Amino acid sequence: MLALKPLPIDFGYGMSLNKSITIIGGGAAGFFSAICAAQLAQQKGLSSDISIFEASEQVLKKVKISGGGRCNVTHNCFDVKLFCKNYPRGSRELLSPMQRFQASDTVKWFKNAGVQLVAEPDGRMFPDTNSSKTIIDNFFNLIDKHKIKLSTKCPVKSIDVVSPNRFKITTGDKNSFMADAVLVATGSGGYHLPESLGHSITERAPSLFSFVIQDVLISGLKGLSFSDASLKLTLPGKVFNQRGPVLITHWGLSGPAILKLSAWAAREMKQSAYNAALTVNWMGAENSNVVENRLNQMKSGNLKNYLKNVYPENLPKRFWLSLLDKYSIDQDKQWAQISKKEVAQLCQALVATQLNISGQNRFKDEFVECGGVALHEIDFKSMESKICPGLYFAGEILDVDGITGGFNFQNAWTTAWVAAQHMMK
Ligand SMILES: Cc1cc2nc3c(=O)[nH]c(=O)nc-3n(C[C@H](O)[C@H](O)[C@H](O)COP(=O)(O)OP(=O)(O)OC[C@H]3O[C@@H](n4cnc5c(N)ncnc54)[C@H](O)[C@@H]3O)c2cc1C
Repeated sequence: MLALKPLPIDFGYGMSLNKSITIIGGGAAGFFSAICAAQLAQQKGLSSDISIFEASEQVLKKVKISGGGRCNVTHNCFDVKLFCKNYPRGSRELLSPMQRFQASDTVKWFKNAGVQLVAEPDGRMFPDTNSSKTIIDNFFNLIDKHKIKLSTKCPVKSIDVVSPNRFKITTGDKNSFMADAVLVATGSGGYHLPESLGHSITERAPSLFSFVIQDVLISGLKGLSFSDASLKLTLPGKVFNQRGPVLITHWGLSGPAILKLSAWAAREMKQSAYNAALTVNWMGAENSNVVENRLNQMKSGNLKNYLKNVYPENLPKRFWLSLLDKYSIDQDKQWAQISKKEVAQLCQALVATQLNISGQNRFKDEFVECGGVALHEIDFKSMESKICPGLYFAGEILDVDGITGGFNFQNAWTTAWVAAQHMMK
């Protein structure tokens, strides 16, 4: 299809005409880096030769389906330190690149490109058209404008170092191409490429998943949500805590607090084969004394009312009835008839329900893998490999992953932008 690229002409003072950059992976990171590199070349009056190789037929697949087809581009938090706290892996390493290109830069970048990003009350930012197509169309216009070459159905099989900063790229159809810099942006695949050049890949594990739990308390309550629950996940030798909204699903528990917990405990959960103990405080942060007082006040103020009709206001009624059922407390009796022991039982269940997790379910809207190229092998000032000069990484191929809310795309934009600046140097 394409012929072997000619060697760049070097004028002997460090600047090459026609610097050739190969980007492996036509996803968010690959496209963004290609476009940023081309824009930089244009600003500097340099010519560039940028190619994207994509293994599959379709590029930007995840951008298309992300955020339920709306594309949650980033998160409305412009404090880099706070922003980086949302990465279970990579939070420290991302600080430096985010100082240079953070969420506010993403908003500006897209605005300059003609895409207005709008924040939702929970901080997630989407294009104002509410369609990922806006982002995809925009990227396509830009790669056309900058004459970036795009080859689909072109999996890269190997990268060979011919000489320092000079690479031979071989694709599935056995064609070879030369490049001065190579960006590996293959998402959660293509690990053989960095491995073949001496990089190590950290243990991979799913991140952002729901918990499979079979318990009479929640079975049959699919769809009930709690706006504020406290969670404690106990795994061998380690405890993880999280607080926030929780949703009862057909299989167990999901919702933002569960997904965050799954991200922070991704590796430990995998090691324990997704068997773990979960303690839920359905009353947010209220402790057992406070809850017991509330139940006793409820009793004294409602002696003649039935248990089934009066319950803590933050609880869905169906959940309260299920709780009474679980402890064989008759829902048709009056509050006057509830015993001390029953109040104590209910209180204990409200602040510390013990549930057994027996598996995981992938979250339908956003799924990421943790694990990837080991971070200590990369210079985060440039995203260049410390092992192989001229080799760069961006996006999900790195051992970086964020919680749900736009943080994973921001990792792709930030690392792709930083890599672009250095590849064009
Ligand atoms: C359903 C879903 C919804 C999501 N929603 C959101 C969201 O709303 N917000 C958010 O922040 N994050 C979201 N994410 C995560 C986000 O999509 C990823 O973090 C992001 O796409 C990573 O970009 P990337 O370019 O690194 O990898 P990818 O987008 O995975 O792109 C990598 C590309 O490389 C190609 N490739 C692999 N190997 C080779 C090879 N050898 N040669 C050539 N090409 C190769 C792949 O085919 C792929 O096209 C979602 C993920 C999923 C799965």
